[in-house]
Amino acid sequence: MITDNPYAPPVAERPHEAVDPSGVWREGDQVVWRHGASWPDRCLRCNGPVARRYRRDLYWHSPIWYLTILLGPVVYIIVAMIARHSTRIEVGLCSRHADERINRLFLAWGSSVLGLVALVSGCAMTDASWAQVWGGLLLMIGGFVAVTIVSPLIRLVRIDRHQARATGVCFDYLAALETPAGATWRS
Ligand SMILES: [Zn+2]
Repeated sequence: MITDNPYAPPVAERPHEAVDPSGVWREGDQVVWRHGASWPDRCLRCNGPVARRYRRDLYWHSPIWYLTILLGPVVYIIVAMIARHSTRIEVGLCSRHADERINRLFLAWGSSVLGLVALVSGCAMTDASWAQVWGGLLLMIGGFVAVTIVSPLIRLVRIDRHQARATGVCFDYLAALETPAGATWRS
């Protein structure tokens, strides 16, 4: 039985349609998606069934614009607001990885708050203990750093007008995505 449509355009003329029916595909270790595309409804960490979904608005601008910080933070903020691109995604985690993420965020935020309390109370004491002040400061900063590491569901690489790309999803999730012809697998 002949199923090919002899009147269909050649594959080269419709690359995305041919290799990427969903608008989400992989290039090496990166997920690439067109704005508005639906990501596969699988856990980003293990490719298992999703128990919790997250909708995120992501923003990115070219690193070159960081140079405008030299002109002052207000100039940078204005330039960044104008130069940035945005995209919206909805992704999911299984119950195990969602719980793990919550526990780690709880620990990270808890460390920050504990550190802040130690810092403030250390400063307020007349016979201030420098160990408590510095320990509190380190705990608070460490907690904030941990939050910035644990919190993102994916690691954004770039966003442009039409598409965006990111890393940080597991191998099985990537493996289930289509790869455009000619793309190389870097990992
Ligand atoms: Zn999972």
